[in-house]
Amino acid sequence: MPNKKISALEVAIQQVDLAAEMLNLESGICEMLKKPTKSLIVAVPIRRDNGEINVFTGIRVQHSKARGPYKGGIRYHPDVTLEEVTALAMWMTWKCAVADIPYGGAKGGIKCNPKELSIGELERLTRRYTTMILNIIGPYQDVPAPDVYTDAQTMAWIMDTYSQFKGYLVPEVVTGKPLHLQGSEGREAATARGLTYCIDEATKHLGMKLRNATVAVQGFGKVGWNAARILDDQGCKIIALSDSKGGIYNPKGINPTKVNEHKKKTDSVMDYKGCKNITNEELLETECDILIPAAMENQITKENAGNIKTHLLAEGANGPTTPEASKILAEKGIFMIPDILANSGGVTVSYFEWVQNLHREHWTKEEVHRKLKYKMVNAFKDVFDAMKEYETDMRNAAFTLGVGRVADSIKSLGLWP
Ligand code: NAD
Repeated sequence: MPNKKISALEVAIQQVDLAAEMLNLESGICEMLKKPTKSLIVAVPIRRDNGEINVFTGIRVQHSKARGPYKGGIRYHPDVTLEEVTALAMWMTWKCAVADIPYGGAKGGIKCNPKELSIGELERLTRRYTTMILNIIGPYQDVPAPDVYTDAQTMAWIMDTYSQFKGYLVPEVVTGKPLHLQGSEGREAATARGLTYCIDEATKHLGMKLRNATVAVQGFGKVGWNAARILDDQGCKIIALSDSKGGIYNPKGINPTKVNEHKKKTDSVMDYKGCKNITNEELLETECDILIPAAMENQITKENAGNIKTHLLAEGANGPTTPEASKILAEKGIFMIPDILANSGGVTVSYFEWVQNLHREHWTKEEVHRKLKYKMVNAFKDVFDAMKEYETDMRNAAFTLGVGRVADSIKSLGLWP
């Protein structure tokens, strides 16, 4: 089947096989790592505003709890499938292990089009779904977070529904909550900030200077906009930006804060003064020092990988590079900071939020940034060392490190009974 597109789950399983081979893992442990511990599918009925009842499919997949409670976001999207959620849950396991935070991996989703649901319908959907997964979530069991098309408000509804059943407020059941509901300082920009800490480490290794380094960013959402803003503050030259409608290019440099104001007014980065409009394909092929895909998966494929002209690829998005493209980039000598390392700042600050909630504490933004930097720099170093030890690229090194840490926990815990 030469033209069959490989699924996210097939990719995730191949990654475990490769890591298991490098680590010389016992086949039974490899088998355990390739399967989620629990997958729950629920039929979620809600009454629509027009009086009709509609039933939506809800999923929660818990992949591994060998290193701590399950952790992972919940997405609302028409393309949600059990296969995709399972792959995403596996990646969460490795990401938490690479970041060295005491969590396992999970993911959830509801197959729906949130753009077609009113705020009241979204609240009823969220609360009913929460009720149906109530027995498998909890502060020491499984701690959900926001993902695609879910946000701090969604987390507030989950927290309230869970708390209503408990009879007291349980903020530590979810992370990514609003700041006034015991959310953490620095959570909104945490993924982007963590990404920039990794870029800083990588440039030191590559002998590159951040000052005047040219940067192209695909996606101008929470990750892309914050990454552009922070790198601009650090003296980088942002030369290309894009969103789902298209991109802009100016070799003299673009001010991301002004583009953000322009996007708020016009709903796109396009047509920003002094810039040339470009397509998303052109953005990815822009000659630059640092390329940051921060939009969707499967953006760099075997078709365009040969045309990528950057020194450093820092993956803000999950899965933006296909495995075939990754090989091509490695052969071209492009240094990659793979997604499970590069965007782990988000789950790291989620972990900080959970710790603050458990201790009924509130840390300052400075404290969160300092702790995040410490975790990211260490994670980068661990992956870099693994790259040398296994004589591989940064992506395989990250998976090998993550899979190895989880396998070590499984071995030491032993099998009961
Ligand atoms: P977001 O919804 O805030 O922003 C996404 C941006 O991408 C928007 O500007 C959108 O217009 C743009 N976009 C969508 N489709 C596009 C396309 N085909 N081409 C170019 N641009 C496109 O999302 P986000 O939170 O910034 O997440 C971006 C990526 O980062 C996702 O892959 C997400 O899974 C990953 N991620 C996010 C976090 C986080 O904390 N937000 C953490 C880890 C990983």
